[in-house]
Amino acid sequence: MNEFDLIRRYFTRPSSQSVLGVGDDAAIVRPRVGYDLHMSVDMLVQDRHFFADVSPVALGHKTLAVNLSDMAAMGATPRWILLSLAVPAIDEAWVAGFAQGLYALASQYGVELIGGDTTRGPLTLSVTVLGEAPAGKALKRCAAQVGDDIWVTGVLGLGAVALRERLQPTGAIPAEVLEQCQQRLDFPCPRVEMGKSLLDLAHAAIDVSDGLLADLGHILTASAVGAELWAEALPSLSWLEADRSQWLECMAAGGDDYELCFTAPAHQRQAIEQRGRLVGCRVSRIGVVKAERSLQLLGQSGERIVLGRTGFDHFK
Ligand code: ADP
Ligand code: MG
Repeated sequence: MNEFDLIRRYFTRPSSQSVLGVGDDAAIVRPRVGYDLHMSVDMLVQDRHFFADVSPVALGHKTLAVNLSDMAAMGATPRWILLSLAVPAIDEAWVAGFAQGLYALASQYGVELIGGDTTRGPLTLSVTVLGEAPAGKALKRCAAQVGDDIWVTGVLGLGAVALRERLQPTGAIPAEVLEQCQQRLDFPCPRVEMGKSLLDLAHAAIDVSDGLLADLGHILTASAVGAELWAEALPSLSWLEADRSQWLECMAAGGDDYELCFTAPAHQRQAIEQRGRLVGCRVSRIGVVKAERSLQLLGQSGERIVLGRTGFDHFK
């Protein structure tokens, strides 16, 4: 099997949403009138973003999920993707699994693979995603306002717990908890529906990939504001919440959550909770935006908590 057979067999499917899909020198799309085109790219590199033994199905899912998560954070609807693939050799079983994981998630969100590039090299996976949102309506990082509530979707820290237990096994985590954490690390759930439904409710948003504190920090910097976060309010699995001091660092600074952190005016509280129920996404109010430009994590009696690490930086 050569490069072209591989593309034809695994990465070519008829496309109904694009003008021209896989097979020519470029794909052609036509965004809807009145919408802005959103574009983003994310790359996963073996031994940096994933272990060599991760299943290809999980990798296919995650490579796309991290990109859909970026669209969700803008409030955009993902529509098209391009896939760049470097593989050390053509291993058909691996490619079939990868394509299965990728297409399963893509079809869940009506996203179409319309092109890409394939080459030999150390295993590297990159998806470029194109999405749409009503013109001028995106949830930008720079839009947080003093007095905004700070919210987060879903649960935090699961991916980080799975990663920590793999790197420094303690054997102290019950099997079913660890299983949920591992599932989250391998199959993150992009909050696309919630992101879209926040367009008319929230001010600023970001997806939590490098850790809540680090990613919220990006909103604060871009918006020239600060914030106070309440450690007790950070949502996680109840087993992890029960020993919060032990797991706080995973929840607040772990990364690999792919939840949305967003800010919204206080008068939208009920609407946000209602939207969360409507799309089946837990939402938790975890802090407030302040004028003073610092980010403080506060304990139960208002004491300041300082964590050993605050987030993930590839070059640290
Ligand atoms: P070119 O030489 O013009 O770059 P390629 O031979 O790389 O073209 O690709 C041929 C066609 O296959 C193009 O339409 C390209 O977008 C598509 N393609 C290549 N690799 C992939 C991939 N991994 N997934 C989806 N489409 C791909
Ligand atoms: Mg090419």
